[in-house]
Amino acid sequence: MERTLIIVKPDAVERGMVGEIISRFEHAGFEITRMRFERPEPEFFRRFYAEHEEKPHFKRLIEYMTSGPVCFVELARPEAVERARLLVGATDPNEATPGSIRGDIGIDLPRNSVHASDCPEAAEREVALVFDRTE
Ligand code: ADP
Ligand code: MG
Repeated sequence: MERTLIIVKPDAVERGMVGEIISRFEHAGFEITRMRFERPEPEFFRRFYAEHEEKPHFKRLIEYMTSGPVCFVELARPEAVERARLLVGATDPNEATPGSIRGDIGIDLPRNSVHASDCPEAAEREVALVFDRTE
């Protein structure tokens, strides 16, 4: 079994899409292993998205991710990372395939409704950041 981290982002929580999004993963054979609803401080997402620090949209991304509550979900299944990225679809909702979560529910950039870890190493790092924090 492999695990991955999903975040239902503020635009989707606000529109009442948490159940719809998590349900798509359950239908696709993922097991929910941990889940937490929260509105983190900007510092958390600055650390979470540290690799994007130099990008022009970084500030907008952090403002968006802290604009409302999010739902963190740890999911498990074989090839969880790759399968979750396929379900989630392309980064830009306007380019994401219909039938993918971002293609069906995403609005624009950065409001693309869901995050999914992009490789197994990122999944381990992100799961630790979200669920194994000690502070
Ligand atoms: P993904 O979430 O598909 O892995 P990235 O890691 O490239 O995509 O980007 C992280 C997040 O930053 C995206 O999910 C999106 O919310 C936001 N983002 C990406 N590109 C842009 C952009 N050009 N303008 C605004 N926000 C963006
Ligand atoms: Mg990414």
